[in-house]
Amino acid sequence: MTKIALVTGANKGIGKEIARQLAQQDVHVIMAARDSKRGQAAVDELSREGLSVELVVLDVTDDSSVTAAAKTIQDKHGKLDILVNNAGIAVWPQDALQLDVKAFQTAYDTNVFGIVRTMGAMHGLLKASGEGRIVNMSTSLASLGLIQKNPDLMLLPAYNSSKSAVNALTVIYAKLLADDAIKVNVACPGFVDTDLNNHMGIRNVKEAAATPVRLALLDSDGPTGGFFNDDGSIEW
Ligand code: NAP
Repeated sequence: MTKIALVTGANKGIGKEIARQLAQQDVHVIMAARDSKRGQAAVDELSREGLSVELVVLDVTDDSSVTAAAKTIQDKHGKLDILVNNAGIAVWPQDALQLDVKAFQTAYDTNVFGIVRTMGAMHGLLKASGEGRIVNMSTSLASLGLIQKNPDLMLLPAYNSSKSAVNALTVIYAKLLADDAIKVNVACPGFVDTDLNNHMGIRNVKEAAATPVRLALLDSDGPTGGFFNDDGSIEW
């Protein structure tokens, strides 16, 4: 039976490429975008490549939008095999300390609460799959071990700590969802040339999508509760 995937923030950047690579492996991909026009343009692009994709409008910061997307998927497909929580934002510090609560609220609302919201709405659909896979997009900048050890690591307090929270959620939900046969892992794509960092990144999106796609397609004997990049495991 065809696998069904939902990729959030799929209208551009790494998310669009994850959608492309999953669809190239015969997965039907629901490309989620908060803006219907931008989302439709991305769906049209992948459709022209002969890929099986469709659009759902989904803003991860908006409860009603996430609930409506889940209902649409329930009515149309009745299950979800793969959820890639890719939608994310970087919040660059105005000053190095970034001790304003607003910056943290902004980063956490999308990067952390957005994932909680989406997982909450999609849990029943993933359970219905019988082999659900959740991939949360994070970064080596979230690794507490690497922050301590590496003096050159970029310190963006709101962004890095929001992704550390994503890592923590992954470990916890990997345990809580194991009885539903759902695997939950974190993917780090590396430093990627996208809008998120004003194209300062050095990897391309094709390279960046490889690890999340691998984790989305794990067999039943694959890992859960891990933090991975192309080279293997990353320390927490
Ligand atoms: P990007 O090009 O800026 O794309 C981000 C995507 O997230 C866009 O589709 C954006 O939609 C969407 N998004 C933002 N807020 C949203 C919301 N409230 N609801 C729904 N969608 C929303 O960034 P990217 O580099 O591809 O990043 C993708 C993921 O990888 C992020 O989680 C990021 O933290 C992570 N990551 C990136 C890098 C890197 O070097 N680029 C490194 C490590 C991790 P709009 O077009 O509507 O804004």
